[in-house]
Amino acid sequence: MNDVALRLTGITKTYNAGTPGAVTVLRGVDVRLAKGEIVALVAPSGAGKSTLLHIAGLLDTPDTGTVEIGGQDVTGQSDRQRTVVRRDQVGFVYQFHHLLPEFSASENIVLPQLAAGRSRQQAQDRATELLESVGVGARAHHRPAELSGGEQQRVAFCRALANRPSLLLADEPTGNLDPATSDTVFDALMTLVRTTGLSALIATHNMDLARRMDRQLRLDEGSLTSA
Ligand code: ADP
Repeated sequence: MNDVALRLTGITKTYNAGTPGAVTVLRGVDVRLAKGEIVALVAPSGAGKSTLLHIAGLLDTPDTGTVEIGGQDVTGQSDRQRTVVRRDQVGFVYQFHHLLPEFSASENIVLPQLAAGRSRQQAQDRATELLESVGVGARAHHRPAELSGGEQQRVAFCRALANRPSLLLADEPTGNLDPATSDTVFDALMTLVRTTGLSALIATHNMDLARRMDRQLRLDEGSLTSA
C-alpha cells in the first residue's frame, strides 16, 4: 500500500510563455502529502495557489515536473485517464459553493455518485450520512438558495467527498463566510476530513485556520517553503 497521497516534483508553470505578457507562477515546486495528512497552503493573493491546486487536481498541466496521486504517476497520461483519476480520487472545494441551484442539497451529492456508477439507493444513503455528519441533515431537501452560506458550503464539502476520494483540494473553502461562520464551517470540514482519513491540501489566507492543520506551506515568488 502506498502511503503518499500526493507528490508533486519540480513543478514549473509560466502563463503566456514566450510573449511579453509571460507570468512565471511556479518555479520548481515540490509537495509530498502523506495519507491522512492535512496541510495548509498559505500565500498572498496572486501567488499561484489556484494554479498549484489545479495542477495537483489534474485540471491543469505543469510545464515541467511530475504529479503522482495515490502512488500513480499521471504526468504522461491521456486526458481520459486523468479524468478517471480525478473523478475517483480527487475532491474539490472552492471559495464559492458552485452547487447546482435547481437541485436539492441531497441531489447535489447524489448526482456525482450516479455519474460514477453507484445505484440511486447507495448514493442517497451516502448523501444522508454525509449531510448528517456535518449537521445539515434536516436541510437535505432544500435547494441551495434556501440555505445559509455556511450550510451551502457544508453541502459542497459533502459533494466533494461523495465518491470517497483519497485527496481533498480546497481553495479558500471558508473565504466567503463571516469570521464566526467560517470557524464552525472549518471545524465541520476538519472533522469530515479526519473521520474519513483523507489527505487534504487547503489554501487559506487565514493563519488561525492554517495553524489548525498538521503543517503549513507558504507559496511565495513561485517557491514553496515550510511556514
Ligand atoms: P492565487 O490563487 O494565489 O490568487 P492564481 O494561481 O490564480 O493565484 O494566479 C497566479 C498568477 O498567475 C496571477 O498573477 C494571475 O494573474 C496569473 N494567471 C492565472 N491564470 C492565468 C491564465 N490562465 N493566464 C494568464 N495568467 C494567469
